[in-house]
Amino acid sequence: MKERATVERHVGVSGLIKPAFKVCAHDRAAPGRIMALTESEQTFQRFSVREVEVAVRALSRLEPLIGVERFTALRLAAAQASRRLEGMTFWNLSSTAAGGGVAELLQVLVGYTLDANIDIRWLVMSGDAEFFSITKRIHNRLHGTAGDAGELGPNEAAHYADIMAANVVSVMSRVRRGDLVLLHDPQTVGMAPELAEAGARVIWRCHVGREGSNEWTDEAWSFLRPHLAHCEAHIFSLRQYVPSWMDESRVRVIPPSIDPFSPKNQEMSQSDVIRTLRRIGLLDKSEQNSASTFTRRDGTPGRVERRAAILSDGASALDPDIPLVVQVSRWDRLKDMTGVMRGFASAVPGHLTAQLALVGPSVASISDDPEGAEVFAECVATWEALPVDARRRIKLVTLPMEDIDENAAMVNALQRHATVIVQKSLAEGFGLTVAEGMWKGRALVASRVGGITEQIAPGTGLLLDDPADLSVFGDTLAGLLTRPDQIAQLGARARQHVLETFVGDKHLLRYAQLIEWIVS
Ligand code: UDP
Repeated sequence: MKERATVERHVGVSGLIKPAFKVCAHDRAAPGRIMALTESEQTFQRFSVREVEVAVRALSRLEPLIGVERFTALRLAAAQASRRLEGMTFWNLSSTAAGGGVAELLQVLVGYTLDANIDIRWLVMSGDAEFFSITKRIHNRLHGTAGDAGELGPNEAAHYADIMAANVVSVMSRVRRGDLVLLHDPQTVGMAPELAEAGARVIWRCHVGREGSNEWTDEAWSFLRPHLAHCEAHIFSLRQYVPSWMDESRVRVIPPSIDPFSPKNQEMSQSDVIRTLRRIGLLDKSEQNSASTFTRRDGTPGRVERRAAILSDGASALDPDIPLVVQVSRWDRLKDMTGVMRGFASAVPGHLTAQLALVGPSVASISDDPEGAEVFAECVATWEALPVDARRRIKLVTLPMEDIDENAAMVNALQRHATVIVQKSLAEGFGLTVAEGMWKGRALVASRVGGITEQIAPGTGLLLDDPADLSVFGDTLAGLLTRPDQIAQLGARARQHVLETFVGDKHLLRYAQLIEWIVS
């Protein structure tokens, strides 16, 4: 705190480009001497949080979908939470505003909570490449894998602490004593000690995890544990992710949810699906093509204008007469895009009549995921090494992220156009893409890992016991594609299951219970 005050006094904190020097007014030997800032002082200047504007979402829109009983429970809980939080602000802190499940969730939860008359805000932290490679390492290790195999030692802890200390300056200028602060994932939890000390009620929500521990999870937890001690509550997506040493009485389990009205999940006519896919370059544009429209999160009309970048051998457009298999994911090794490709390719020469689109965000766009470009390059290399007949059926698609509503509409169209949706992750915190696909009435083939297991109930999709077994994956896909009746049946049950279990009201109710518990 002291160091921060000194730096601010000397150089001021304003604007984006900060000076690398300070005037030492208090240097007795040479008052007014100009000195270079230390590395740590420069860190303080460069990193701060920014607020994400979220449009209000009317809770009442959910009523026709969830029915009177569920809606009444939601309204009562929202009113109670609003009373409890009167005079307080409910802050959410995450590491990115777009791309990935946390950003997707926050858009929805913040929007609906605003309609409950609660002062909820969302701040996004910033960091440098080193910070995000450390936090990605922690993320991978919480999933039980080595990730980049780098260290999580004192140097990493020091850099992590520097970035946290820099960000917390701008958080503290907004947060008041008694406010609720929900820190999301390892990227932000290092702000807990200072916020708690300043009188905020701090909660941590962990969106990743692994059932059981191994040396990697132990290492990640040792890194995070000192920060976690300052949080009043710890939230996990699944009970199995709670580490054995954690105080159970502080734990709450809150699975994520989807919003049926977001641009990602809103109803889309078949002709809008086709128009969108033509616009982005995935379907042939030879016929007359009018604009493809959707409704933005703020209720205003939007149009899909940008094109996707498509890596293909031969025509970049899909063949409209061949069934399409889609996996939508960040470019993350744990999503195993290369495994999907190889498993699909191994089944192509024999009996798999289908085409595959592997879809992810443009790799330049996700600032908190430093491995994206590298993983995408690995996918390209795997694709290039495939036999030509397999390669012709596989497209690597990256979607522009400049406009996240437009990006969401593209994902929506792709998921709806798919005959089968795949999520062949090797590990998964929750896997929102699964609920998104199920909501659209699609048949899912997905790994029996993490949160996917919670989402796909018997009869609502096919689970792969061993996601590393590519030939079983290829055979399962090929078999399902020959059974349109089963595809339709799985899809119908999947949608109903998501409606009953993973629509936003369930999520909001659990938040209301959390508020009740913390604040009362
Ligand atoms: N997503 C997206 N655009 C893309 C790729 C992914 O909007 O180009 C979204 C996807 O639809 C889902 C989220 O990113 O809502 C990924 O969340 P998930 O829980 O599946 O995985 P995570 O990225 O959090 O590991």
